[in-house]
Amino acid sequence: MRFDIITVLPGLLDSPFAHSILQRAQKKGITEIVVHNLRDYATNKHKSVDDYPYGGGSGMVMMIEPFAACIEKLKSEREYDEVIFMSPDGETLNQQIANQLSVKGNIIILCGHYKGIDQRIRDLFVTREISIGDYVLSGGELPAAVLVDAVVRLIPGVLSDETSALSDSFQGDLLDAPVYTRPADWNGHKIPDVLLSGHAGEIEKWRFEQALERTKTRRPDLLK
Ligand code: SAH
Repeated sequence: MRFDIITVLPGLLDSPFAHSILQRAQKKGITEIVVHNLRDYATNKHKSVDDYPYGGGSGMVMMIEPFAACIEKLKSEREYDEVIFMSPDGETLNQQIANQLSVKGNIIILCGHYKGIDQRIRDLFVTREISIGDYVLSGGELPAAVLVDAVVRLIPGVLSDETSALSDSFQGDLLDAPVYTRPADWNGHKIPDVLLSGHAGEIEKWRFEQALERTKTRRPDLLK
């Protein structure tokens, strides 16, 4: 799976993909993440990528030409399944969307900045618009990193213990159960006895009950 991320601030994306699971996924050749500097596709002599909004008002608007040039170049090199625009007014990212995207081949992600991007980019090139929540950030880079992380960890072979993604919160209708590690007794605070019982069936049952209880109290909306 390949991601092409188009941004005016490529430096913002240096770190998120250079560690841990995302780094390993790239090293294993399971995913390729390529960051493109939108400024390299600026067409005018000032290399500008934004301009004043028609009709006035506050904030600069990102221009169509650099995005169009970059997207068209990428599309001339390979087929893309989706061109995603990170946007607070898009559909809110959830585990189901991450699952859908994890079986795709190539995805372009556009990061907005300032007041946003020229509506014609959205009308002409974008196939899907995704928000990471009901709040506004300064740019689409952190949202793009969130999306790529959520998707890549679902691709088979990325997590060392594949079943661990399946038992995560939101993968089914339940939140994840509590987890514990050593020591079994920390200053008198003990872990539940069942986890030391060695009884797989009992442990499984306990985890299910805990997950159910947690979901009832925290996210009753998930229980149909
Ligand atoms: N004027 C816009 C916000 C622009 S914020 C509005 O009110 O909808 C600048 C850019 O940051 C956006 O174009 C988008 O790419 C990104 N962004 C901000 N908040 C986001 C969110 N919650 N989810 C995804 N992208 C977001």
